[in-house]
Amino acid sequence: MNEKKKTNYVIIIISVLLFAILVFGVLYFIIHPETVSTISNNNQNEILNSMSSEEEVDIFENIELVSASLEKYTVYGTHLNFNISVNNSDDLDNIYDAKIILKNMQGDETNYDADYIVENDKILFSTSDKINTGIDLESINQDEYYILLKVITNKVSYGENGDKKETKKEHYYNIENNTEYKDIEYYTITRKKKNNKIDIKENKIKNRDVNTLCMNVKESKLPANVYDIVIDAGHGGEDCGASANGYTESELTLDYAFKLKEKFDKLGLKVKLTRNENETRMDTYGEDGRYVIANSVKAKFQLSVHLNSGDSDLTGVEVYCPNSSNLKFAENLANNLVLNCNTSYSQNNTWKENDGVYVRNFNDAAFEEVLEYARELGFEPYNVSYNTAYYGVIRESGGIMTGAYIDGRDPTYENNPYYNSNMGVETYLLELGYITNLSNIENIIANEESYTDVIVETTKDYLNLK
Ligand SMILES: [Zn+2]
Repeated sequence: MNEKKKTNYVIIIISVLLFAILVFGVLYFIIHPETVSTISNNNQNEILNSMSSEEEVDIFENIELVSASLEKYTVYGTHLNFNISVNNSDDLDNIYDAKIILKNMQGDETNYDADYIVENDKILFSTSDKINTGIDLESINQDEYYILLKVITNKVSYGENGDKKETKKEHYYNIENNTEYKDIEYYTITRKKKNNKIDIKENKIKNRDVNTLCMNVKESKLPANVYDIVIDAGHGGEDCGASANGYTESELTLDYAFKLKEKFDKLGLKVKLTRNENETRMDTYGEDGRYVIANSVKAKFQLSVHLNSGDSDLTGVEVYCPNSSNLKFAENLANNLVLNCNTSYSQNNTWKENDGVYVRNFNDAAFEEVLEYARELGFEPYNVSYNTAYYGVIRESGGIMTGAYIDGRDPTYENNPYYNSNMGVETYLLELGYITNLSNIENIIANEESYTDVIVETTKDYLNLK
């Protein structure tokens, strides 16, 4: 091989190598397009950072912050609620309006209405007196926020000539968490395969020497052990529930639960069933207990499906709601079932709030039962009140909002690890109809498609799952 040929070979080899590197590079970016966008995003972020550090604005400029004390702090279903107390002062005479504010780092504010009552030297502000309304966590945009209380006063005075003069003033309060509950971690319900993770905790305000509650909302994959909703097929196995007319409650509720799961799955929701088969034994409490599952998978919503029993002429729908709640979901569900499923509102008038809508709390007889039971077993009776939800599935999955109380003092079963939780699952118990009424139960079986369609559509509307 002469020198010239050698040089030609070297040139060819180098060309082939360069070509291969080029082809490899192009292929790599085709396979990993995110590498390209990450690079440009990083550049963008650097540019944004340098801009913001040059033009950094103090979003609290000219704002005087006074400390307020967080007294109650709960999430029930999809709604966050606060009770906040402020020292009363002459400055707060003539309150005109009060808001809970989410203030982002650019200073933009999102407002939520707050009510207030004056109690001697304190004023107590609250977002809602219903456990399932208040601040809707599902609708908050991804961002970082300071949470503050804003009170607007309006002093009216009259000039010498009788002219009315109004002076409005904004008072801002940072919120210090004095409750036993600290950080909240919440996942929004799956919409278009996406979820947000919301973290709420107390933090220092930048450039100020005070703390306030802060909220961080960012997109996040749903962890494997977190679910959107839970369907509880009433009873199971040896506990077959009611049976009449040749039908068994536990078998029919399981059938309904499967059908509901199938339809909620199609909406893209992550659905957990409390039971998958007609098991002979199912724990009520303890980490996998029927009344505990919904809380342990951080579900937002739960429906417990049952069939009623009674005199053979009794028929129709009953939806049982959590105590102290807005009854909108139950009203819509009862109305839609009656309109579309060839059924009626139940004739039962006990615990009735509205057609087909019921709230069952402890009454004198139920109190006596709790006391008697505890006396027999020799433990300190549970501290129930007239605002304690009667049905275990509603009460125990709702934490402190619904009066959960299974704390382990009863030696015959395990405790509910979430009995003292400030996060609860919004739960409804649906009595589809009466198994003891032949035409009612036959309709429930024949019309399963329309019943389940109505349940899914009503839930979809209520949870704003477009
Ligand atoms: Zn039942």
